[in-house]
Amino acid sequence: MNQQEIESILSNLNLKEIRFFDSIGSTNDEALAWAKKGAGDLSLIVADEQTLGRGRLDRPWFTPPKTALAFSLILRPTYAEKPLLSRTVGLAALALADVLQTLGLTPQIKWPNDILLNGRKLAGILVEATWLEEEVSSLVIGMGVNVAKAAVPATDILGFPATSLENVLGYVPDRNIILHAVLANIISLRPHIGTKSFLSSWEKKLAYYGRQVRVEMGGEKSVSGKVIGLESDGSLRLRDDDGNFISVRFGDVRLRLFA
Ligand code: ATP
Repeated sequence: MNQQEIESILSNLNLKEIRFFDSIGSTNDEALAWAKKGAGDLSLIVADEQTLGRGRLDRPWFTPPKTALAFSLILRPTYAEKPLLSRTVGLAALALADVLQTLGLTPQIKWPNDILLNGRKLAGILVEATWLEEEVSSLVIGMGVNVAKAAVPATDILGFPATSLENVLGYVPDRNIILHAVLANIISLRPHIGTKSFLSSWEKKLAYYGRQVRVEMGGEKSVSGKVIGLESDGSLRLRDDDGNFISVRFGDVRLRLFA
């Protein structure tokens, strides 16, 4: 991976600007700083290695060199997109899931932000925002995908089992081609983010649909119920044993199958 190669492969996507790093702390940190300095819609950071990659709540995300895909895409939401920003994590998840399907795989979305293959975490998504007073002025879609086996962290440091594309495909696919396909899907799905069919495609890919799950909410707090879909803003909809509906918003939550 290098700047020239990436610029060449992504040339038909009309991105605003691309910045490639052999090694970086976190692509999202770089993208947020760039967005604050005025980076335009569809500006992209790609890194071969992250030394301080982040998941939600500053949990670590590991991106060893030459083994994974790590990028952050800056969006400048339009007026029409502003009420739909909470669906952006779904946009990113569906964009990657569609690419995986074209590779013959069956991805599932572990709500809110992980992509699973065979019940194991292949990729994580982190959407963050920059603000101008009360208004979101940019969104950063960060994505980390384990491509080669060597990207998968040691089991003892994981809270959830992980996998890589090499593990499931038996070969290492070209990272540039996957990057191109994911970005192309984000761009083509983006105009449909407000539609019912977008929400139902997202729902159809939810891991544990119809299953009993426990949502850990930080500390001792948790709620349990059957996964029955998504709210219009992308919150997870559960039904508990007493028939009550529960909506779980993004935040400090971790989803687990009910053991
Ligand atoms: P969990 O994965 O435990 O359900 P989460 O969804 O909140 O929690 P994220 O914030 O999305 O997790 O990602 C951070 C977590 O992902 C880390 O705590 C670590 O356990 C795990 N992780 C870090 N790097 C990788 C990787 N390359 N592949 C798979 N999992 C990873």
